[in-house]
Amino acid sequence: MKLATLNDLYIDELKDLYSAEHQLLKALPKMAKAAAAPELAQAFTDHLAETKGQVDRLDKIFKKLDVSPKGKTCKAMEGLLAEGKETMAEDADPSVMDAALIAAAQRVEHYEMAGYGCVRTFARLLGDKQAADLLQATLDEEGAADKALTKLAETIINIAAVAPDGQQLTA
Ligand code: FE
Ligand code: FE
Ligand code: ZN
Ligand code: FE
Repeated sequence: MKLATLNDLYIDELKDLYSAEHQLLKALPKMAKAAAAPELAQAFTDHLAETKGQVDRLDKIFKKLDVSPKGKTCKAMEGLLAEGKETMAEDADPSVMDAALIAAAQRVEHYEMAGYGCVRTFARLLGDKQAADLLQATLDEEGAADKALTKLAETIINIAAVAPDGQQLTA
């Protein structure tokens, strides 16, 4: 049995996140390049730096567990990034493209939040407070990145571009 214990599942889920974060290290620079608003490009670049730190935290946890972080591919992140790639290939108004990039990025952040919330809880259940704290720190960063994207959506997306014929869209 591959997943005989909660510890086995914990390691499997950590490997999934390790794969997801590495996929993001490659995708975030492309998303920054595709963004029209400099604030959005900056948000992606900032999150790239945070993502490197998140990989370091995972490395620390794997080292302590004396387990290799490799050997799993996060298929969900492959799918989310494939959708993002599809979006970036569209011929879109720059402001609409930014809105689409934010939508893609927020899906990614929510996926990560779910993953880190689970492994944080598993670490607690397994009595590894140091790992739980590291995973909570990453979870907090993913949550903050998600909130920052919502804020950007509210401030940078040009309604005039989104509304056809200059018609005002009001909530
Ligand atoms: Fe991350
Ligand atoms: Fe996954
Ligand atoms: Zn994943
Ligand atoms: Fe993230």
